Amino acid sequence: MTLTQLRQQFISGETTPSKAIEDLAAGISARDPQTQAYVSYDLDTALEAAGKADLSKPLGGLPIAIKDNINVFGQPCTCGSNFLVKGYTSNYNATAIKKLVDAGAIPFGRMNMDEFAMGSATENSALQPTRNPHDPTRIAGGSSGGSAAAVADLTAYAALGSDTGGSIRQPASHCGVVGLKPTYGRVSRFGLVAFASSLDQIGPLTNSVDDAALILQAIAGHDPQDTTSLNTPVPDYSAGINDGVAGMKLGIPAEYFGEGIHQGVRENVEKCIKLLESKGAEIIPISLPHTSHAVATYYVIAPAEASSNLSRFDGIRYGNRATNPDDIIDLYHQSRELGFGPEVKRRIILGTYVLSSGYYDAYYTRAQKVRQLITRDFKQAFETVDAIISPVTPTPARRIGTCTDDPLQDYLSDIFTIAANLSGIPAISVPCGTTAFDGADALPVGIQILAPHLGEQTMLRIAKAAEAVRS
Ligand code: GLN
Repeated sequence: MTLTQLRQQFISGETTPSKAIEDLAAGISARDPQTQAYVSYDLDTALEAAGKADLSKPLGGLPIAIKDNINVFGQPCTCGSNFLVKGYTSNYNATAIKKLVDAGAIPFGRMNMDEFAMGSATENSALQPTRNPHDPTRIAGGSSGGSAAAVADLTAYAALGSDTGGSIRQPASHCGVVGLKPTYGRVSRFGLVAFASSLDQIGPLTNSVDDAALILQAIAGHDPQDTTSLNTPVPDYSAGINDGVAGMKLGIPAEYFGEGIHQGVRENVEKCIKLLESKGAEIIPISLPHTSHAVATYYVIAPAEASSNLSRFDGIRYGNRATNPDDIIDLYHQSRELGFGPEVKRRIILGTYVLSSGYYDAYYTRAQKVRQLITRDFKQAFETVDAIISPVTPTPARRIGTCTDDPLQDYLSDIFTIAANLSGIPAISVPCGTTAFDGADALPVGIQILAPHLGEQTMLRIAKAAEAVRS
């Protein structure tokens, strides 16, 4: 059931917010031991809020699952890390949560994720891997794997995730749900535990494009507590969403359809493009020539920012603290050594290296320059097209455990999603079919729609058309 349908049922009296939450709890007990999407949930607090729900509000009484790196007052916020599993409870609401609650929603459930959002499979969670509801031997994707899997498993009606290099769109694609990364600055990052601050955005994972618009409407907007928040009015994202794609120019970047894409992914995406064409869209071949540098650029900038952001986890201020240190330096060392997992350590070391004196210009400054070239590619493309269409990932969901000793393989799986973060533009993943892959009969495939800066309305309209041609 979508949020929109659930809301109608609340209004008609067919069900109530309390009943909807009890249904979720029953679904979690039945299915989540296998899927492992939830880190925790607080049924009593949610039921209390449900009892007081104001159904006249846009999200009145609707439960929304929250990735475990977004602070919700009074709840744990583990970030999938041993550092925060014990001894940390949020003492404030992230702005996105405050806005959801103001719109009537009920945050319910803390969703599993790769540690500090570093990963593409939720296998870097210190707590548990999340399994794909379509095939439990497969990854759910990541880092918002718990959010995506729960929405697909119908143990959540909708969820919030965060996307630094693809972490909303990639798991959405692997789990067959909708995942939207807003324009950088459209949704406040205040209260999102920072990974790479110039790339991070919060966004929705849902079972329909309408639901994604509904949640974006609630969480978007200026926030003085986030200095990168955009101070531009929020349009009505549902207005015009059904207007279709007739007359729209859709760019197909040659670089996103090259070698290495699984045939079933390519076929599904191409079929969806043909259907959009049959609905009146004009399909225009384009080039984004710096695409091949996106992954390398990201893996300089993101670890650099992460190494700085994660210095706050020192064993003094938050969570894990070494019990028997020799002195203060040893306290830092031991707390970080025991608190962080291998991927987080790898990123901190990489980031510290690229920022160190003597290497800063060779790596960090150069990466920032390439980032400008990638951004310019998009600017130029959007002079002739309204939006860009591509696959989300080169392959459907791989098997759990098949990539953990080769992080490079996982880094490469972000090849189509990372450029949107580097240039700050919005992008959405919409299910477009299924394909046989590596012994599985039918794994979900997503199509990605990238739009110009603040072009969420156009993007949602195309996404809605893509969703309609599929069903
Ligand atoms: N997979 C990418 C990484 O590990 C992106 C993660 C994300 O978007 N949070 O950095």
